[in-house]
Amino acid sequence: MELANFRFEVDADGVALATWDMADRSMNVITPQVMEDIGKLIDEVTTNDAIKGCVITSGKDGSFSGGADLTMLQGLGMAYHKLAKQQGEETAMQFFFDESRRLSLLYRRLETCGKPFAAAINGVCLGGAFELALSCHYRVVSDDKATRVGLPEVKVGLFPGAGGTQRVARLMPTGDALQMLFKGEQIRPAAAKSMNLVHEVAPKAEIVAKAKAWVLAGGKPQAPWDAEGYRLPSNKVYSPQGMMIWPAANAIYRRETQNNYPAIKAVLHAVYEGLQLPMDLALKVESRYFAKILRSPEAAAMIRTLFVSMQELNKGARRPAGVPASSLKKVGVIGAGFMGASVAYVTANAGIDVVLIDRDMEAAEKGKAYSHKLVTDQIMKGRAKTADRDALLARITPSADYASLADCDLVIEAVFEDPKVKAEVIARAEAAMPEGAIFGSNTSTLPITGLADTAKRPEQFIGIHFFSPVEKMLLVEVIMAKQTGDKALALALDYVRAIKKTPIVVNDARGFYANRCVGNYLREGHLMLMEGVPPAMIENVAKMAGMPVGPLSLNDEVAIDLALKIVKATKAQLGDAAVDPVQEKLLSTLVETEGRLGRKNRKGFYDYPEKGPKTLWPGLAAIAGQQLDPDALDMEELKQRLLVTQALEAARSVEEGIVTDPREADVGSIIGFGFAPYTGGTLSYIDGMGAKAFVALCEKLAAKYGARFEPNAQLRDMAASGETFYGRAAGARRAA
Ligand code: NAD
Repeated sequence: MELANFRFEVDADGVALATWDMADRSMNVITPQVMEDIGKLIDEVTTNDAIKGCVITSGKDGSFSGGADLTMLQGLGMAYHKLAKQQGEETAMQFFFDESRRLSLLYRRLETCGKPFAAAINGVCLGGAFELALSCHYRVVSDDKATRVGLPEVKVGLFPGAGGTQRVARLMPTGDALQMLFKGEQIRPAAAKSMNLVHEVAPKAEIVAKAKAWVLAGGKPQAPWDAEGYRLPSNKVYSPQGMMIWPAANAIYRRETQNNYPAIKAVLHAVYEGLQLPMDLALKVESRYFAKILRSPEAAAMIRTLFVSMQELNKGARRPAGVPASSLKKVGVIGAGFMGASVAYVTANAGIDVVLIDRDMEAAEKGKAYSHKLVTDQIMKGRAKTADRDALLARITPSADYASLADCDLVIEAVFEDPKVKAEVIARAEAAMPEGAIFGSNTSTLPITGLADTAKRPEQFIGIHFFSPVEKMLLVEVIMAKQTGDKALALALDYVRAIKKTPIVVNDARGFYANRCVGNYLREGHLMLMEGVPPAMIENVAKMAGMPVGPLSLNDEVAIDLALKIVKATKAQLGDAAVDPVQEKLLSTLVETEGRLGRKNRKGFYDYPEKGPKTLWPGLAAIAGQQLDPDALDMEELKQRLLVTQALEAARSVEEGIVTDPREADVGSIIGFGFAPYTGGTLSYIDGMGAKAFVALCEKLAAKYGARFEPNAQLRDMAASGETFYGRAAGARRAA
């Protein structure tokens, strides 16, 4: 038997071991060829009498498999559209349905082949790969730190379409199953066992032996749901117990998704309908929904941005090709405050040595103590060992002496946001660091080009802009000053990759990219409030539009005095017309009259009591001076305002040459500031409705709410020509 992606051997006891180990990939993925191999495997195991059963495992050291190759699914969608044009909708749909359920049928064939199959899993086993494991009759996972199982498809706008919804919902109570499928979380070994997703947890070295032992002990080649007398964990859908679940499930679905995610709704349908049917029919129902979701604009947008583009950016799509890869050994961080302490942590966590400098040793030590706290929290949660903490802390050297920057490859400053302080720090650091090292600034508001001007080696100067909280936020904006050279860019990107974050490369401008869009989002919330829109409505409408937090909550987190400071600085630099007086009035009243600074002093748009949840501050109504009748408000328009103001700013950033690649605008918008993920990001939102419709929407809003909604010239051109951002970028790449 010829297998392209598996090694196959049968031991003396007659147990086959299929080791999945794709030659040209660091992690196994499901491709058409892998599906073919699995088919051959099933044939061999079932027809060869000498084989008692089979164990499937991975030949990769740290992983089983990440699941299906999403570009394969993307290709399927494209093939559908082509076929629909050539041979009509019906033929295309049949082709699409057949193709999209191949994996589901294959796994069902494995499950019902009559010989026992077991999966021995080490490392991540996700999506389509975990669905493979679920179709095996027995699952052993390693107790390794890196081991995770799960069905994360909803995170890219899809859902598990190879039996996942049906098998999970037959293994555990329906409520738990729905929660797992809705969230798409990665599950650790012990939890997987207690959820009934796996049968056994064992040390890594023993998983194959345990799986084989199960086969030899007469492991039954039958899934529980195929056995006589099987009962659903939450009883039948139409039973008193079963009916307890669905009203709540619908409410939870609405609360969690605001009905923005068709894939999650499809999970609800597939489980509800599937649980009323025998397995084969249930799988067919799941396939029908899967084929529908696979063609949805939300899935297309999310796969493109959150999988394809993100992977491309992580792999260095924007890295200058001519510069050899660097391996960073030591990074200097100057300023051990709120940001610097976190930057030191993520850097040390990536195995890189850090010198953490502040004005005196006490401040530097305090910055290091933050890492101690973070790892200790991890230890308490059982996610790290004391030895991990010791190793990480040993990598951070606190210092008050710039001379300790002598052997750093990169130095990042996170000192006070004051050009004079920055200039002094840059000069002192440059005098101490090696000639060839790169200097990065984490400033959020000062122009990088201006800071680079103060540097001795401006071509080695770059912006490395982190988002707070650094430990959690995946995005890093890498900002090119006019003078920045390729070597600085390459090293900055290598660094971002090393700390496992996603970079977007943007050109220098006020607020760079992300904060410009976020600033507009906050301003729209402020202006709505001053118009008399009830604050609770502003917050809820934002969530309905797909934003993770409302603008008022977000401003409380960012700090209201910071928002006021930025408004004042903008006015000072660009003139009165650059700021909205209504917004300024709101912010100055809150900060200067009321002393409301945000969460940090427990008084912002919300009150933050010592105990219990935050509540909107009742005084907001008096500041607004008027209250509109909520029933008379157009919810759809409020939602549009909050998204359009951000997307329009992204479009302006493109026209101004700040963002040069739509992939970066989209990825940055979702992972940087949570722009409604189902849209695929700020520019996909515009492309999705078409520039013409977007411009019309902007004009409608501009007529009603003012010039801030006026579309820019490039958008108008695109509306006239029917171009899209992605179409233009592809055209530019072809021309280059
Ligand atoms: P912070 O006040 O918490 O920390 C600044 C630290 O720099 C302090 O520990 C201070 O002692 C130290 N420092 C000041 N002058 C110094 C000098 N000459 N030498 C050595 N150390 C010195 O401020 P922060 O919030 O961490 O912000 C730091 C930078 O990061 C700013 O440029 C800010 O714009 C940027 N930033 C902040 C955020 C945020 O959310 N706070 C987000 C992105 C970027």
